[in-house]
Amino acid sequence: MTILVLMGPPGSGKGTQAQVLAGRLGMPAISTGDIFRANVADRTDLGNRAQDFVDAGEYVPDQLTNQMVRERLAAKDTRHGFVLDGYPRTLDQVEVLDELLANQDRKLDAVVVLDVDPDHLVQRLLHRAELEHRSDDTEDVIRRRLQVYNEQTHPLIKVYDERGLIIPVDGTGEIDEVTARILHLADSLENRGS
Ligand code: ADP
Repeated sequence: MTILVLMGPPGSGKGTQAQVLAGRLGMPAISTGDIFRANVADRTDLGNRAQDFVDAGEYVPDQLTNQMVRERLAAKDTRHGFVLDGYPRTLDQVEVLDELLANQDRKLDAVVVLDVDPDHLVQRLLHRAELEHRSDDTEDVIRRRLQVYNEQTHPLIKVYDERGLIIPVDGTGEIDEVTARILHLADSLENRGS
């Protein structure tokens, strides 16, 4: 049973690496950004309420986000653990996650923080914009997403560091190189206690 959080600014590759790590550990990767995008595409009630925030690069209000995560974490496939990608992102979300895990008698094992030079982030995101056409990958919205991350999410590193949960990983280089660094970490997590 392993519960991990993948944290890092937009463009740090946390989505890609969360998938790899979850695959390796045989657990689901839960990406709040992916869930919002799927709901927007399907025009669900949640999607309609989230769309303007996502498109503007603003965070979806905590209440909506927390309720969605509450429901997702109640699903059976999370019983052997999971990797969270893009949640929690605010102090309020940290508290809700604490409470959700405490209610299930579970606890967070580690928060992996992907570290990438800020100058590279915008370049990476603009490159991805050409490939994926995400509605929030325009230059203005990218800059806003980086700003929101720095203001609201970066402070969470200190909160989790005080709990001894932070594992910094160098996110620069090729996807495979970063994956190798994280797989090394996954091995040590799998072997822990055995
Ligand atoms: P990125 O980290 O590259 O900006 P994500 O796919 O993780 O991309 O998130 C895309 C958008 O989804 C965010 O800009 C925000 O609008 C919304 N979102 C995702 N996760 C959260 C969250 N935990 N709280 C609030 N909004 C979120």
